[in-house]
Amino acid sequence: MLKFNVLIYIFGNRKSLKFLRVQSISKILINKIKDHLSNDPNILLLTHINPDGDAIGSILGLYHYLVNRGFKTYAVTPNNFPTFLQWLPCSDEIIRFSGKENRVEEIFRKADVIFNLDFNEPGRIGSMEDLLTGSDAKKILIDHHPNPKKFNQLEISDTSVSSTAELIYQLLTQLESKPFLTQEIATSLFTGIMTDTGCFSFNSSSGDTFRITSELLESGIDKDRIFEQVYNNFSEMRMKLAGFALNENMVVLSGLHTAYITLTREELLRFKHSMGDTEGFVNLPLSITGIQFSALFIEKEGHVKISFRSKGSFPANQFSEKHFNGGGHHNAAGGESFDSLSETIIKFEKLLKEYADQLSKP
Ligand code: 5GP
Ligand code: MN
Repeated sequence: MLKFNVLIYIFGNRKSLKFLRVQSISKILINKIKDHLSNDPNILLLTHINPDGDAIGSILGLYHYLVNRGFKTYAVTPNNFPTFLQWLPCSDEIIRFSGKENRVEEIFRKADVIFNLDFNEPGRIGSMEDLLTGSDAKKILIDHHPNPKKFNQLEISDTSVSSTAELIYQLLTQLESKPFLTQEIATSLFTGIMTDTGCFSFNSSSGDTFRITSELLESGIDKDRIFEQVYNNFSEMRMKLAGFALNENMVVLSGLHTAYITLTREELLRFKHSMGDTEGFVNLPLSITGIQFSALFIEKEGHVKISFRSKGSFPANQFSEKHFNGGGHHNAAGGESFDSLSETIIKFEKLLKEYADQLSKP
């Protein structure tokens, strides 16, 4: 049997074999999306607040494709995104709602089709929520978070993939019979997959993720440059903030297999914090032996923004949804608290004791 497979691989059509093995979106759904794209619609692409690499990579990957195909397309984020994503091709064409409210309202009025990328509940786009829910445009979801809320006519929703960028790749290969992969599209989608898998360290156990990544690499993108721009593009003060956060503010609760970090507004100001500087901090405590659950509490004006990460069976998203107005993936979630930072920590530590059994499971 093994011999037979090897023979097919060598003498068969290598390309089609590869594509057959990548999980695909149903033909019915693809045809419905094609219908939505007929009659030259005005298209609006949206993604979540505080956009991450997958949000920006996905929105730009689809944006480049649609613009290349001649569609009138707008890409809109609720707010700004970190400088380590602002080098991406045409990232300056993304319109930030905050500061451009009137322009975005006009775009919503004109939109015939809206793609909702990398989020699955309208509340995740902040102040644009009412514009989205009140819009008559046809809405298409492309996302990989669990439990999507019903606000789209069409849904590509798959929690088994690494990232929304991976789903965009699948969509484009199925929409097109001719080559579509430009350097701009491949660079954007690679950035989405790389960041949402923590450089292929989590959410990346499926062969499809690597098959798609290999296609992106073969298109000739500069992987090393992308890595440099995303991960080695921080200020000196950001590195000092990381050192401070770990040295002064990390609390390790070994008995509960948990560690957490807090940062107050004053501390962030002291280290001349800019957007994106705390990205990745929440992962650091997970490299301590025995730590299964990690949290990062960042004091903001009027609330505390929280990131949760877990290893193994502990459901970070359920914990966040139940206690901290949030959600996300099983091992990576976020939420917020409207108590003070110190009250939030008291509540968190108290909850951990209730979850002691679950936290001790692998
Ligand atoms: P991060 O900790 O990097 O901000 O977010 C981790 C994951 O949790 C991401 O998938 C993100 O979409 C999700 N997430 C972060 N904050 C929230 C939130 O306030 N609500 C919900 N539902 N998901 C969140
Ligand atoms: Mn994502």
